[in-house]
Amino acid sequence: MAAPVLLFKEGTSRTTGRDALRNNILAARTLAEMLRTSLGPKGLDKMLIDSFGDVTITNDGATIVKDMEIQHPAAKLLVEAAKAQDAEVGDGTTSAVVLAGALLEKAENLLDQNVHPTIIIEGYKKAYAKALELLPQLGTRIDIRDLSSATTRESLRKIAFTTLSSKFIAEGEEINKIIDMVIDAVTTVAEPLPSGGYNVSLDLIKIDKKKGGSIEDSMLVRGIVLDKEVVHPGMPRRVTKAKIAVLDAALEVEKPEISAKISITSPEQIKAFLDEEARYLKDMVDKLASIGANVVICQKGIDDVAQHFLAKKGILAVRRVKRSDIEKLEKALGARIISSIKDATADDLGYAELVEERRVGNDKMVFIEGAKNPKAVNILLRGSNDMALDEAERSINDALHSLRNILLEPVILPGGGAIELELAMKLREYARSVGGKEQLAIEAFADALEEIPMILAETAGMEPISALMDLRARHAKGLINSGIDALSGKIVDDVFGLNIIEPVRVKAQVLKSATEAATAILKIDDLIAAAPLKS
Ligand code: ADP
Repeated sequence: MAAPVLLFKEGTSRTTGRDALRNNILAARTLAEMLRTSLGPKGLDKMLIDSFGDVTITNDGATIVKDMEIQHPAAKLLVEAAKAQDAEVGDGTTSAVVLAGALLEKAENLLDQNVHPTIIIEGYKKAYAKALELLPQLGTRIDIRDLSSATTRESLRKIAFTTLSSKFIAEGEEINKIIDMVIDAVTTVAEPLPSGGYNVSLDLIKIDKKKGGSIEDSMLVRGIVLDKEVVHPGMPRRVTKAKIAVLDAALEVEKPEISAKISITSPEQIKAFLDEEARYLKDMVDKLASIGANVVICQKGIDDVAQHFLAKKGILAVRRVKRSDIEKLEKALGARIISSIKDATADDLGYAELVEERRVGNDKMVFIEGAKNPKAVNILLRGSNDMALDEAERSINDALHSLRNILLEPVILPGGGAIELELAMKLREYARSVGGKEQLAIEAFADALEEIPMILAETAGMEPISALMDLRARHAKGLINSGIDALSGKIVDDVFGLNIIEPVRVKAQVLKSATEAATAILKIDDLIAAAPLKS
């Protein structure tokens, strides 16, 4: 008798074929189902309690899936899709997960009709490619040739307002202040692309929060602000034409890693020992002065004795600066981070027109302006409490992302389910031209898209099926911008008029993330799980 072949470790479980597929689809759909009710401006919140008992209340798709600690491998693919969505465009996470769920649900119907998964995958890919081609044609192009023109600023203002108004509970003046800062920040760092759009590198925009005052006291600094004071009273508070040494080494005598014992037997020896330390620090300061530095910004500590020497040389110094700020300074000032002071050269220094300590509320902060790279900006947020500041920061991040999306690809689409409905209609026409079993898959893709307006209708308290029928009828009449206005709970002919708009990049990425996640799950026909480790 032949010996049995053991392929897997003992305890491994294996599910294959349709069972594996259905099991995965079920898990992914369950996750998508949970997010359904959070979609749109009337979406409900989820309350999440982590293993430490900390509570988060949110309706932000990205936060929900990240915090849920999902276990099932197929559902994890959806979590990855949401994360990719967030990283790429900073918006549309709930939509991506919900759409992926709908694509899987429709795929299941096709599996029931014995359509092979490969055909469904092919059909979905075709539908996705077609949708991507259609998207820009169904939107409105914004003129962004001159970012400083009044009309362009007005368009950007509308887009920022749309993003902020759905999330930010603020007074009119506060919103205006934030919008102005966000538009100024984005247009300052924007770099023209050959495509006609602009690249906006968001890491050039630093946001700092300082408690006190109100949102209206916030400001945009063309440069960088450090939430630190100048370390020594004897140092200058203002340096013009600053040559700046950016250090990630400490200006301190290194303490030995293991405690060392020094036997000192006479007062002379103590003095010699201290002199030795002081000389070492003086040498470091002299070195920095000799390469021409008149400002020192240090990630680590600066010893009192070193401070004294720096002050004597008329050098302005700041210590314990965050690593992330050190990296931003390197870029903005055109500096090279100095790790070993004895090897530093004049080439390592960065440049700014002005470094100055100023009072902000009850604190002092160091402002660096006129940096070598004039594209670095800093939003300094003020607000009465931490919650207001955090909320303002989140909203600003959202607005920065939407403006970035528009500047990269200046097309806006009608929201409120209008674009999904129009795409579905066009995809059904396309499906007929493809024919065969793939036609069924392309139609299933169209059906999945229509889930979005149905869910928006549902969360707005409308009857989803009749809303869908009504929308279909209007789109068939050529009203391509008719969609749901969730706030009034009505269907309107022109969602643009209500500023229910979406950047084309967000929608394109939603389609991409959802299609990729759904097809990845449909491709799996074998689920092999090792036995969990015993703890
Ligand atoms: P996501 O995480 O996907 O961005 P949101 O909860 O922000 O999810 O919902 C986005 C959806 O809500 C989009 O389809 C958008 O068009 C729609 N939407 C936004 N505002 C409105 C509105 N006033 N009425 C109807 N739908 C809206």
